[in-house]
Amino acid sequence: MAERKQFQTETKQLLDLMINSIYTHKEIFLRELISNASDAIDKLRFESIKNPDILGEDKNLCINLSYDEENLYIEDNGIGLNYEDAVENLGTIAKSGTKVFMEKLKDLKNEKDEMDLIGQFGVGFYSAFMVADEVIVESLKYDQPSEKAIKWVSKGDGEYEIENINKEKRGTKITLHIRKDLNDFKILDEFIIKDLIKKYSNYIKYPIKMEVTEYKEEGKQEKEIKTLNSMESLWRKNKSQIKDEEYNQFYKENFYDWNDPLKTIHFKAEGSTIQFTALLFIPSKAPFNYYTKEFKRGLNLYSKNVFIMEKYEELLPKYFSFVKGLIDSPDFSLNISREILQHSRNIELIKKNIEKKITSELKTLIKDEREKYIEFWEEFGRGIKAGLYESIDSKDKVEDLLLFKSSNENKYITLSEYKERMKEDQKYILYAVGDSISYIESLPQMEMIKEKGFEVIYLLDEVDEFLIQMLNNYKEIEFKSISSSDLELGNKEEKDLKQEENKDLLGKLKELLKDKVEDVRVTDKLKKSPACIVSSDDNISINMQKILKQMDG
Ligand code: ADP
Ligand code: MG
Repeated sequence: MAERKQFQTETKQLLDLMINSIYTHKEIFLRELISNASDAIDKLRFESIKNPDILGEDKNLCINLSYDEENLYIEDNGIGLNYEDAVENLGTIAKSGTKVFMEKLKDLKNEKDEMDLIGQFGVGFYSAFMVADEVIVESLKYDQPSEKAIKWVSKGDGEYEIENINKEKRGTKITLHIRKDLNDFKILDEFIIKDLIKKYSNYIKYPIKMEVTEYKEEGKQEKEIKTLNSMESLWRKNKSQIKDEEYNQFYKENFYDWNDPLKTIHFKAEGSTIQFTALLFIPSKAPFNYYTKEFKRGLNLYSKNVFIMEKYEELLPKYFSFVKGLIDSPDFSLNISREILQHSRNIELIKKNIEKKITSELKTLIKDEREKYIEFWEEFGRGIKAGLYESIDSKDKVEDLLLFKSSNENKYITLSEYKERMKEDQKYILYAVGDSISYIESLPQMEMIKEKGFEVIYLLDEVDEFLIQMLNNYKEIEFKSISSSDLELGNKEEKDLKQEENKDLLGKLKELLKDKVEDVRVTDKLKKSPACIVSSDDNISINMQKILKQMDG
């Protein structure tokens, strides 16, 4: 005789929500049930280490999917549930993730909030009720005789029934009687199931099998049992066993790019506080929408091969938004939300870790493969500069990744290379602003500077000057525009003397130009040209004034 039991109050609430939700991400139920099946197999495998006999005849650990016109079946040969397990685990909410979810549920104001919330969480086993109006769990625990198997049935209406049944095979079979009111959402369809497995469960390490239609030559069709998932997650394999070709293939398939990545970064962190694997790629070409608002940065998150979310942005600082890839950590639970992640200390640690790694890889490129780095810089440099401009606190981490063209053969240089080459009597890092090299080279001020043999960095990009102003200095050496009025190149006394001698002339010129300039002075910056215009306030150069004016518009 079946025993009728009530769900715990909290569970009831959750079930109500599942049943009544018009939530669009119903598809996650499959991910949840498959990951439970995979967990159950993991547990069995763990038991079998101590006692290999428990596998018996049934050694091919796998997950089987099948369906008919009304039901979807998910079957595993994992550890199974006994009577107490079923009452305990399928009737109550014990998990912390779901508990937090329930807490949040209390503060909800409307349906939209509710949907957002389910979207942020995965809600485990109960998500089955988003698509099913009846769920049947039949299970035999590995250490029980077949007549001690159980059958658990619920319509999600606050009650469930449980009884002992006879079941020959070890493990759990879940039957979902699919709701008729799902409208657009079809699940009892070969192609939809295949797609969902690829999307969420591709890297589950046990085969997920289903009978599918195979198209043979001459238009013939045959039914065949196939494994739907690729099982092997590249990132969990040992680095030394992965060929470049495999990385490139993986990148192109998963991150929608035609080109091979410029650089692949694959590493594991196995500290006592955090554990994760990262597989990151630096693309060789910027995506077409990279410099638009449509572009979304972020890394994909997995927990032990199960896909959790796409493009989680908190793991990448803005200046590294070009990085693509994924993080897999056992510390992420499937039931975690973006919000909770954001406040987790782990995320902070992981972020720091990967930032450091990316920085050091880029620095190595600068040092060892300059051509490659320049290629990279020309694609993504503007993004790095704009990102750094917005988070200037990260100056120390990022300033050494910046490249500028300079008067040294018009080649790209880093600030540290500039510093290395500075003359003994040189106080500043000199820069000139313009939209082309030829424009800058024609500036009258360049004459004397060249003569003195000082190097000048060229700020050719609009964002450059803003960035330099923000940075203010590099390793305590100030930046100074070659057009700034207080830039001293020659002998100050000599200059002051000349200023005094020509007082009358300068006064007259000033009188003549009074609507146009603030002052007229003697300069030591010129060689051939008779005069040049400089800016009085060296925080805002002439060029920047132009840009600001445009912006005021
Ligand atoms: P979680 O997987 O986070 O523990 P779920 O709500 O997904 O939470 O599942 C609840 C519990 O039900 C699991 O912890 C497990 O004990 C049990 N369970 C669910 N599916 C299976 C299964 N296929 N085999 C064995 N136990 C299962
Ligand atoms: Mg689960």
